[in-house]
Amino acid sequence: MNILFTSKEELCRCLLKRDMVYRYIPVSGRKEMSDYAWNKGKQAARKIKDRFPEAPMDKILSELSINVRICEQGAYQIFSEFYQNRKEIVLNRNSIRDNFISANNEVLRTDDFNVIKQLFQAHELFHYLECFDSEIGLTYHQHKVSVKKIWKFNYLVGVLMLSEIGAYSFTRHFVDFTELTAAFFDAEKGISGAV
Ligand SMILES: [Zn+2]
Repeated sequence: MNILFTSKEELCRCLLKRDMVYRYIPVSGRKEMSDYAWNKGKQAARKIKDRFPEAPMDKILSELSINVRICEQGAYQIFSEFYQNRKEIVLNRNSIRDNFISANNEVLRTDDFNVIKQLFQAHELFHYLECFDSEIGLTYHQHKVSVKKIWKFNYLVGVLMLSEIGAYSFTRHFVDFTELTAAFFDAEKGISGAV
């Protein structure tokens, strides 16, 4: 099951572990930085819901002048990307269908790409907000870890995966999961009974 459907704790643990500087993050600081990123995604979802009440995703993206392009690359594993310079979200339809939908068919109630694509649009919308909404800003900039000490100098590096935690949190708080899954879904707990 994709971490999108697991509990918040499992999602944060998995994503943080993938960070290149994970081993430099003090164990005692992991929860605080994960919670920070999670709450940021949640607050950003609230903000966009308030600004565009009841609006469908495609309308929100067009209001924000975000272009959406669908590509059909075969073996390409990335589901979606946001290109800051041209304000464009690229969705890889084949990858989403072959790797995401098929791997989560026990959870999803639909295989309609037009319904499922909003998960990826929401994820990338958060990355847009990090770049273009100064109130939100880049999540990974807020927490830096010291990776080296040479003489008296510390090298401080941002924890990139915090932006991913924020994007997953945004998606989970923004998208209506009742369209996507028949199971009970809670933004914090995930699918009922998920680890
Ligand atoms: Zn992302």
